[in-house]
Amino acid sequence: MAEFDAAAFGATLGRAFSENGIGGMLSFDRVKTLTAMTERLLTENEKYNLTALTDPGKIALLHYADCALITKYMKKGATVIDVGCGAGFPTLPLAVLRPDLQLLAVDSTEKKVAYVRETARLFGLDNVTCLTARAEEIAADGNYRERFDYATARAVTEMRSLAELLLPFVKVGGEMIAMKGKNAAYETAGAKRALAILGGEVVAIDETPLRSAAYGEQSHAAVRIAKRKKTPAAYPRAWAQISKKPL
Ligand code: SAH
Repeated sequence: MAEFDAAAFGATLGRAFSENGIGGMLSFDRVKTLTAMTERLLTENEKYNLTALTDPGKIALLHYADCALITKYMKKGATVIDVGCGAGFPTLPLAVLRPDLQLLAVDSTEKKVAYVRETARLFGLDNVTCLTARAEEIAADGNYRERFDYATARAVTEMRSLAELLLPFVKVGGEMIAMKGKNAAYETAGAKRALAILGGEVVAIDETPLRSAAYGEQSHAAVRIAKRKKTPAAYPRAWAQISKKPL
């Protein structure tokens, strides 16, 4: 790993947040935590292949600011399940920036979950719980089913399958928040039938791009889907069916 410049990273992070109107979310302590977390991510990345982004400026923008932007949709003290958390996105930035949230980070890959769990422990993020599991295999469990105010996912799967994975976890009255790329509106339109079956309804698609003087506009999309009705017990199906025959 190239020498990590903590002071420079702090400044870069501040710029990425203020360029996107969320500078107020940062404090001295939060910058310190996110900086140390980034140094750890880059070090561990050499062993575990956790992130494709290694440029600190891009990490500040495309990991932290990107994830921070969805917090505005979350009410105070809410419970959140992050499905396919990978190296902890959005879980870890959410945990630092919104200590009021209670987060459950789920991923099917044990080494990624181990990384997130250890990172949360090292940085004293006691609002994070981690679980190694496939989402569709824990969704019938009464500890998880329809127990969360929000279910989030970034870069996990296409909207129809994603809705089947996420909506079962959301309480009626809560929301699924899907972090998507350029195809957000198209994918969401294609998921109309799936949402009707699963009890979801699109609230809004926010496609305001990330602003950055250094990197230019970057796509960012948050699709908010409200849970209006209980999800029928038949869903989610096994992954083989979800992927072969999306709703
Ligand atoms: N959300 C992270 C990681 C995206 S990669 C980020 O944005 O950086 C997608 C992750 O989803 C992988 O870590 C993969 O293991 C996980 N995943 C895919 N399908 C899953 C499922 N059905 N249940 C749980 N995790 C899943």
